[in-house]
Amino acid sequence: MDRIEPKLFVISGPSGAGKGTIVARIRASRPNLGLTVSATTREPREGEVDGVSYYFLSEEEFSRRIDADQFVEWASVHGHRYGTLVSEVSSKLAAGSSLILEIDVQGAFQVKERFPEAVLIFIMPPSLDVLRERLEMRGTETAETLSVRLANAEREMALADRYDDVVINDDLDCACAELASVIEKHERN
Ligand code: 5GP
Repeated sequence: MDRIEPKLFVISGPSGAGKGTIVARIRASRPNLGLTVSATTREPREGEVDGVSYYFLSEEEFSRRIDADQFVEWASVHGHRYGTLVSEVSSKLAAGSSLILEIDVQGAFQVKERFPEAVLIFIMPPSLDVLRERLEMRGTETAETLSVRLANAEREMALADRYDDVVINDDLDCACAELASVIEKHERN
């Protein structure tokens, strides 16, 4: 039988590509697959819980943690800062299972530099038009933040060829199955 090796998976993709939904589905069937909780300076959305959705930090606290070298990576995304704490990665990797970091492209390349064995996976929407529709349906954005997210989406999608694998989220069930098999493929390598 193949040996399963715990791996660090970085999952990126534009806002609205469905990363969160796909990762949540995969983790429901593989509860030992870890997921880091990121820190951010953006305001919590309705229903988001501090320490579960994100660690919601003030600008001052975020800067203090950068100075204290507490981030594996961090980046400014859509006008706010987001970062992965060293403590999150080390404690969750110590559990002995693979770990997912759901972060933007800038952060993904920082992680790859720090951990060359990390696997980068990009979740791609079928098109920019579909992405716009999904973001509008989600109803979390104002006209202004929607256009920022769509402009960033185009920039991010142009970098997908620097990822190890790309999963197109056209049909949710197919995308979940594909991501699960990509993860298993790398764990067996
Ligand atoms: P949202 O505000 O919609 O929760 O997240 C916006 C974007 O920030 C997402 O596309 C996500 O990939 C990115 N993001 C979330 N956490 C992190 C992080 O820890 N580091 C980086 N670099 N990006 C993150």
